[in-house]
Amino acid sequence: MNARAYLDHNATTAIRPEARQAMESAYDFIGNPSSVHTEGRKAHALMEDAREKIAGLVGAFPQNVIITSGGTEADNMALQPGQFGARAGAARCLISATEHPAVREGGGFEASTVETIVVDSEGLIDLVAFDAQLSAFRGEYSEAPLLVSVMVANNETGAIQPIAEISDRVHGVGGLMHADAVQAAGKIPLDIAQLGADMISLSAHKVGGPTGMGALVLSRSDLPLGAPLIKGGGQEQRRRGGTENLAGIAGFGAAAEAAAMDAADMSRIAGLRDELEQRLTAYKGVRIFSANAPRLPNTTCFAVPGMSSETLVIALDVAGVAVSSGAACSSGKVARSHVLVAMGVSDEMAAAAIRLSLGWNTQDSDIDAFFVAWSAIYEKFEIRRSAA
Ligand code: PLP
Repeated sequence: MNARAYLDHNATTAIRPEARQAMESAYDFIGNPSSVHTEGRKAHALMEDAREKIAGLVGAFPQNVIITSGGTEADNMALQPGQFGARAGAARCLISATEHPAVREGGGFEASTVETIVVDSEGLIDLVAFDAQLSAFRGEYSEAPLLVSVMVANNETGAIQPIAEISDRVHGVGGLMHADAVQAAGKIPLDIAQLGADMISLSAHKVGGPTGMGALVLSRSDLPLGAPLIKGGGQEQRRRGGTENLAGIAGFGAAAEAAAMDAADMSRIAGLRDELEQRLTAYKGVRIFSANAPRLPNTTCFAVPGMSSETLVIALDVAGVAVSSGAACSSGKVARSHVLVAMGVSDEMAAAAIRLSLGWNTQDSDIDAFFVAWSAIYEKFEIRRSAA
């Protein structure tokens, strides 16, 4: 059987050898990081070493890294009105229209207290429109504590938001800023101070670490959060209870360190992606979404009108290539991507959207394998289209 080509790294990427090695070694540690004996202290030291590496991915201080069970929990933790203390009842939240469901659905805010920040046809927040929205918001809710959540880069299109400019504006009206950096981490250099965000979400399995691990990174250690979502033994500075997953944390740390190095020079991946897009746009009808926006170097989301993404994902899979559709599948129903809908993409185009995402181990041969499969599928599609 021929090797398969995996082009779905935004869904999850392969575990890096450094992470696998770190996890294997961590299983030799017996101690609970909270124990005072020698074994416990060794486990604690291993955990803190990994925390330092995770912090390094976003230029943060290690003591400001709260380890979680993934990006979803980090997003949920960030979106709690409880962080505004006695004023929680009046708190309001603004989130961009293209956020991941972990932000869209995950917060503790009542639906009636959440407003959407619109995006333009490239999937970007228009800063002039955002200024107008913020001042109208402040006019109406001058006393309300405000939390704004905007992702650094979109998981479907790769579009990169102007987070530093958005953070400035949010702070200008006294709000708190959360940025979901789950997809951006390891693909572009990130620095929490430059982004200006108060809180950043990370996920280990998007950077080559294990699934089920993530972090909420704070800009300062005294930033208030709501009551812990997981209450227990006071771990993570009383912000998240439960005996730590030492091997998972070690794997996350090793992956974060390797991913931070990769992010400093993504020219190899960007070169592969550019070549992919050049070859793709030679096919009639191909439209690449967010093509005019700053984008992650690994992501291409495209559509050919009339070509069903569901059919294409299956056909490519049968031909040995793993990609994902731009449509979100829930409860057995395939829904149009909320990201593309927010960008004003037509139903026909949204139903045809396919995402190709490259990763740290992607090779030329993966791109070639995609084009072997794609050109055969496209040829059949063209024959059917011209016969119709
Ligand atoms: N945020 C974004 C932008 C994502 O793409 C994802 C996962 O796809 C998440 C959050 C959730 O992360 P996790 O899978 O670690 O819960």
